[in-house]
Amino acid sequence: MTKRYLSQLVLITLISLIGLSVFGINPYLMVFLMVIAFGIVIYDNDRNYQIKVRQDNLELTNRVRSTSNDAHLKHKQLVTLVSNIPLPLLLIDAEGKIVMYNEQFEIFKESKQSEALTYSQNDFKTGVHEFVFDAYLMESIRQKAIEDNGQHYEAISVPVYSNKVYSGCVILFQDISRIKEREEMQKQFIADASHELKTPIAAIKGMVEILNREDFDDEATRKDFLIQIEKENERLEQIVLGLLELSKLNRDTLVLQRNMIDFTQIADSCANSFKETMKKEHITLVRDYQSHKPVFVDAAKMTIVINNLLSNAIKYSGAGSIITLKSLEAGDCYIFSITDTGKGIAAEELAKIFERFYRIDKDRARFSGGIGIGLSIVKSIIDAHDAKISVKSELNSGTTFVIELYY
Ligand code: ADP
Repeated sequence: MTKRYLSQLVLITLISLIGLSVFGINPYLMVFLMVIAFGIVIYDNDRNYQIKVRQDNLELTNRVRSTSNDAHLKHKQLVTLVSNIPLPLLLIDAEGKIVMYNEQFEIFKESKQSEALTYSQNDFKTGVHEFVFDAYLMESIRQKAIEDNGQHYEAISVPVYSNKVYSGCVILFQDISRIKEREEMQKQFIADASHELKTPIAAIKGMVEILNREDFDDEATRKDFLIQIEKENERLEQIVLGLLELSKLNRDTLVLQRNMIDFTQIADSCANSFKETMKKEHITLVRDYQSHKPVFVDAAKMTIVINNLLSNAIKYSGAGSIITLKSLEAGDCYIFSITDTGKGIAAEELAKIFERFYRIDKDRARFSGGIGIGLSIVKSIIDAHDAKISVKSELNSGTTFVIELYY
């Protein structure tokens, strides 16, 4: 019973008593009026009470509904977030149940079974299985490299705490295959470079040792050794310069300074610098320029390309040969080629000549001063331009290098 309800009843009683004593109203009539007044007050209060209960119920229902809507919304947001992360991801709850994983994670499953998984009972591939097991139990940030089908991943687990209580963990797998590939390439590069440097160093060391002998007094050999030491030294210098050049040509860091330029101008200025050598070797240079359309290239870098291709054409062709420079347009492509009538390259070697330190005939290349870096420098520059280079060749007939640039 509310205070308001009681005070209404007291007020009616008081009014009735005043009515009886002061105004002398008929007691029967007074009692009748009192009963009616009490009835009205009781009915009104009961109705108000029912309305209030109904309102309270409605409010409670709304609150429950909004809380469940909220939870539903949050779950939906979490699912959207997890499925949109482009890396394999897994969530484990406080009891060790695997509550969620995204589509990217499917690659680590051994079978398509969808029964409830836990940190200890899961059908994931071995390395992943072990990591999930440890990650849940250790309750700490963990990191581990995992290999799967030639792909390399860095698995990272992060524990999740709610009010300082451990409530599971999140496990993420980052694809580090490209980084690994680069690491391998770097290792290979260092191994190849060291190998290349070792040969002239060993030759110089051997000759110096002989020259230093107390009993050495052969003047002719001394002169010959000094000439060879000078040559090996030059070779060392060439290798080091080539390596430096190559290290600057990393595709990810190489900055091109491009301009619209007639490619034949670059070719002509390169050919000009070889004029004397070609004259000495009786090499004929033919220019077959069918296009002078400007192309968007880094002229300095393209000069390195043409210089390398021209010097190879001269080096591997010999006296009396013909070198042809040709430019033409084909659709949205500008084509520039260098053809020689030299010794050619065997079909099985064609794919390898762009590799670093690859020389077809190592001894002959040594004699001609080749270190096997030129074409890999050419390839790096062409790649940086998003252009293409290809080679056609026939043994003892000649070789053509073709550069394709796109507008
Ligand atoms: P190198 O410094 O040995 O010339 P490159 O990378 O420029 O190194 O060339 C790799 C190999 O490709 C050379 O050793 C050579 O055997 C072959 N080669 C390149 N250009 C020609 C060519 N025009 N004719 C024949 N062989 C060539």
